[in-house]
Amino acid sequence: MDKSKRKAIIAGNWKMNKTPSQAKALLEELIPMVKDADCEVVACVPYVDLAVAVETVKGTNIKIGAENAHWEKSGAFTGEISTDMLKEIGVEYVVLGHSERRQYFGETDETVNKRTKAVLAAGLIPIVCVGELLWERKCDITDEVVARQVKLALYDVSAEDVKKTVIAYEPVWAIGTGETATADQAEEVCAAIRATLAKLYDAETAEAVTIQYGGSMNAGNCDELLAKTNVDGGLIGGASLVAEKFQPIVAAASK
Ligand code: PEP
Repeated sequence: MDKSKRKAIIAGNWKMNKTPSQAKALLEELIPMVKDADCEVVACVPYVDLAVAVETVKGTNIKIGAENAHWEKSGAFTGEISTDMLKEIGVEYVVLGHSERRQYFGETDETVNKRTKAVLAAGLIPIVCVGELLWERKCDITDEVVARQVKLALYDVSAEDVKKTVIAYEPVWAIGTGETATADQAEEVCAAIRATLAKLYDAETAEAVTIQYGGSMNAGNCDELLAKTNVDGGLIGGASLVAEKFQPIVAAASK
């Protein structure tokens, strides 16, 4: 397996943090720090920060992502944002199915699938989050839970489109808790995700998909995690909010 064939992606997930002026300031600080990165660098930011973020990173190697998108093109969906709206302002990535959306906002595997198809149809790149609860890991059903989420998220998605899709393995018990999956645990599940993709599509397609790890990744643990064969990058929450904490992760993925 040749990991170098896949695009390593380090993406920040800012969640509900940073006002537009704070977003501009953080990105301006980050731009010179990651300008020589040998991986894709993405900042997924709150909706109201998107326009200023896209403007701020123009001409740099940083890409901007949203943290969600609705599956309908337009219509009576108060409070929602469409893929066309994101595309028009220059957004390139969209985080979908994050565990916080599943936990607090009624996101289901079915809506993740609808969003994934809409995002791909708009020519944007979905970062589809999957991961088990602590209880599910204790019951030894991690691989089943994650395989189910992957299969449902990708229902009716073509092989061509799945190659453009990023999957983020985020064990729910490791998100924002300071508790990280060990590098071996991360590798085991990322490899299982790739095996699921090979069964759903074929080996060549599975080999092309970028699979990130997310869950308390930081400067201290990123080297070991990112060195694993099936870990092609990271989705970073807390450590993406401070330039000095995000930059070492980008540097580790660039090695
Ligand atoms: C996340 O929210 O996707 C995440 C991985 O958060 P943290 O890095 O803070 O655990």
